[in-house]
Amino acid sequence: MSYASLKGFRDILPEESARWREMERKIHDLMRRYGYGEVRLPMLEATELFARGVGEGTDVVGKEMYSFLDKSDPPESITLRPELTASAVRAYVQHSIAQQSAFTAWYYLGPAFRYEQPQAGRYRQFHTFGIELIGSEHPEADAEVVAAGVDLLAVLGITNFRLRLNSLGMPDERVGYRAALLDYLRGRASELSEESVRRMEGNPLRVLDSKKEQDVRATADAPRLTEFLGAESLEHFERTRALLDAMGIDYVVDPRLVRGLDYYTRTAFEFQGLDLGAQDALGGGGRYDKLIEEVGGKPAPAVGFGFGLERLLLASEAAGASSTAAPEIDAYLIALDDEARRWAVKTTHTLRGAGLRVECDLLRRSMKAQMRDANRKGARFAVIVGSNELAARAAQVKNLGDGSQRDLPFDALVETLCEATPHLPTPDQTSP
Ligand code: AMP
Repeated sequence: MSYASLKGFRDILPEESARWREMERKIHDLMRRYGYGEVRLPMLEATELFARGVGEGTDVVGKEMYSFLDKSDPPESITLRPELTASAVRAYVQHSIAQQSAFTAWYYLGPAFRYEQPQAGRYRQFHTFGIELIGSEHPEADAEVVAAGVDLLAVLGITNFRLRLNSLGMPDERVGYRAALLDYLRGRASELSEESVRRMEGNPLRVLDSKKEQDVRATADAPRLTEFLGAESLEHFERTRALLDAMGIDYVVDPRLVRGLDYYTRTAFEFQGLDLGAQDALGGGGRYDKLIEEVGGKPAPAVGFGFGLERLLLASEAAGASSTAAPEIDAYLIALDDEARRWAVKTTHTLRGAGLRVECDLLRRSMKAQMRDANRKGARFAVIVGSNELAARAAQVKNLGDGSQRDLPFDALVETLCEATPHLPTPDQTSP
C-alpha cells in the first residue's frame, strides 16, 4: 500500500522550505519595523465562529469549510480555520485585550483550509500572512494597513502588481445598494452566466466579482455602490485615498471590487499579481467595524489584510527575487577507516557545538565519494583523517575554495575553523 498526500495538500521539501523561511524572515523583520505583535492561533475553532464571523452567505462558509463533529457528548461542530481574521478577533475578545489598550496591532502567519477545486495557485491547505489593527476607526489606520501591504511586496521584490481600492460603505448603506443591484441583475438575468444567476439572489454583490466576460459586459452599467454611500463613508474614503496619495502609493479605484467575505465595511482593497495566472489575488483586506460585536465583543473598529504565501512566493520567483543558493557548510569531515569514523562523529558533534555548520559521512563511503559529497554541498573545508592522522593527532585540512592543504593539530581544530568562519560570533559569545 502506498500513500499520496490528499488532493490540494502539498509537501514543502527542504529546497523549497529554505525559500519559505527566507520569506518568513523578511515578514518578521517588516513587522518588527511596524511594531506589531505576533499572535499564534489554533487551527481548529467552533464552526459557529466562522458561520457568524465570516458570514453564512459566503462561499467560504457555505461550500468550502472543513467541518467535523468532535467526540464530545453531545458532539460539537468544529472547523479547520478557512481564514484567520475571525480567530484573531475571537482571541482579542476572549483575552479582553480592549481593556489593556485602546489600540492593538497583531500579525500572524499560518495555514488555512478551504475545500476548493485545486488549480495552479489554489490549494486546499494554503498559508497566510495577515495583520489586524483593532481600535481605530480612522482612515490613518486604513492607510497604514495598505502601506504595510505595499512594503511587504517591496521587501519580497514583487513590483509587477496592481492595487485596487473601493469603499463598501456600512451595512445600512449596502442594503439600499443591494436592492438596486438585484433589481438591475434580474433585468439582465438572460445575459449573465449560470453561476451568476445562481449567486445573484443570495449575494448579488458577488456577481460584480465575476471575471467571466459575459458577466463583466452585462454589469457594465450596473448601479455603483459609491452612489449609495452617506457623507461619512464618502469622507472616510476620500481621506484614506489622500493619505495613500501622500505616501506616493499607486492604486486604482475599482467599484467592482467587493471581496468575498461579508464582514467588510468601508475600505476594501486587493493586491493583484500581474505575473500570476487566473488565481491572481496576492492578498487583500479592508475594514471590518462590525465583526468584533458580531462575535460577542464590545464594538470596536478594525482593519486588516491577508496575503497568500504560496502566491507571494510564486510572484517573487517570477520577479527573480528569491535566491536558490545551495546550503553551504563550513567543514566536511572525511574519515578513512573505522577508527577515524569514530573520531569524525565525535569531532562533528564538538564543532557543531561551537556553532559551525559541519557534516560527516554516515554511509561509510570511499574517500573519493566523501570528497565529491563535500564539494557538492559547498563545504569550505574538508578535514581528512585516517590512521596516520590519528597517530599524529593532526588532521589534513583542505581549503576547497583555493585547493591549499595543511596539517592541523586536533587541539587547534575548533579554534582555527571558527576563526576562518565569517558568519560566527566571536568565541567569547559562543562559550557558555
Ligand atoms: P481571502 O481571505 O479569500 O481574501 O484570501 C486571502 C489570500 O489568501 C488571497 O489573496 C490569496 O492570496 C490566498 N488564498 C485564498 N485562498 C487560497 C487558496 N485556496 N489557495 C492558495 N491561496 C489562497
